[in-house]
Amino acid sequence: MSFNIAIIGAGLSGAILYDQLKKFNFNITLFEKSRGFGGRCSTRYIKELKINHGTSYFTTQDKGFEKFCEKQLQHNILAKEGSYYYAVDGINKMVSTLIDPADILLKTKITQITKKSKKWLLYDEEKNIYSNFDIVFFTIPAPQVLELQIDPLPKIFTQKLKSVTYNSVGSLLAYGGSLDEEKINILQKSDFFKKVFIQKDGIVFHINYEISNQLENKEDIQQLVIDEVRNTAGIQLQKNFTLISHLWKYAFVDKNLQDQYLYDPKHQIGFCGDYFVQKDLESSYHSSAALAQSL
Ligand SMILES: Cc1cc2nc3c(=O)[nH]c(=O)nc-3n(C[C@H](O)[C@H](O)[C@H](O)COP(=O)(O)OP(=O)(O)OC[C@H]3O[C@@H](n4cnc5c(N)ncnc54)[C@H](O)[C@@H]3O)c2cc1C
Repeated sequence: MSFNIAIIGAGLSGAILYDQLKKFNFNITLFEKSRGFGGRCSTRYIKELKINHGTSYFTTQDKGFEKFCEKQLQHNILAKEGSYYYAVDGINKMVSTLIDPADILLKTKITQITKKSKKWLLYDEEKNIYSNFDIVFFTIPAPQVLELQIDPLPKIFTQKLKSVTYNSVGSLLAYGGSLDEEKINILQKSDFFKKVFIQKDGIVFHINYEISNQLENKEDIQQLVIDEVRNTAGIQLQKNFTLISHLWKYAFVDKNLQDQYLYDPKHQIGFCGDYFVQKDLESSYHSSAALAQSL
C-alpha cells in the first residue's frame, strides 16, 4: 500500500523533500500558494525578461549541498564563478526541475488541516477540501505555519515554532534601462542596501534589515529606493526604469532551531525548512533530506 503525502510549499525545501520521497513511490501532492515554483528562489518573468529577485547567487559550505549544486551545474541550471553559484536561466529552475508538474497544485493556499478517521483533511482559502492524506509536511517559514489552523499540533512543536524569527528584505526590481558602472559602485557601497544585484535583464535592490523590518507592506519600498538612489548617485530611477516592489516578510532566518526537522510519528505531521540547524538554502536542503530519510 502506498502512502498519500501532502507537502505544503514549493520552495527549495518542498522540492528536495518531494524529490527524495518520490524515489519511494509515495503518492505526493504539493500545494503552493503562488502561481509559480521557487519560493524565495524566485524568478520574475516579464515578457522575455527573467529577473531573480530573492536569492540571486550563493556559496556552499558543506559537501552534501555542494554535490547537489554540482549536479545542477552538469544540467546547466546553475553556473559557477569562483566560489559563487548563480542561475543560468532563472534561479527558480533549481526548484521547478525537481518537480513533476502533475504533482503540484499552484495558486492553492492551505489555511487549515485537521485529522479525521486517521487521515488528514486540508482546506484552502477558497474552502476547497483535499482529503485522504496519511502524512502532511510543512516546508514554509515557521511564522507562516503559526498563521494556519492545524489540529492536532503537538504543544512542543508550537513552542519551538514560536521561537523562530526572520529578518525582512524589501526589494525593488528595475528593468528597461541601464546605469553606468561608476553609479552602480556608489550604490553598492550604500549602507541603505543589503545588496544591489546587477543581472542580465535588470537590477535588484535589497534594502537592509534595519529598514526592511519596519515595513508592513510593499507600498513604501519604491519611494524609499528612489530617494536613496537619487540622494547617493544623483539618478532619477523612475524616469529610466520600470519598477516592481516586493516585500520578503520572512527573508532570512534570524533565530533558528537546533533540531534537523520536527516530525510527530503519532499524528504523522512534519516540518522542515531553512530555520533548522543553519539559516539559509543549505538548511533547506539538509533539513528536507534528513526528514525524508527519517521515514
Ligand atoms: C532577497 C533574498 C536573498 C537571499 N539570498 C540568499 C543567499 O544569498 N544565500 C542563501 O543561502 N539564502 C538566501 N536567501 C534565503 C533562501 O532563499 C531561503 O533560505 C530558501 O530559499 C528557503 O527555501 P524554503 O523552501 O525553505 O522556503 P520558501 O522558499 O519560502 O518556500 C516556501 C513556499 O511555500 C509557499 N507557501 C507559504 N505558505 C503557504 C500556504 N499556506 N499554502 C501553500 N503554499 C504556501 C510559499 O509561496 C513558498 O513558495 C535569500 C532570501 C531572500 C528573500
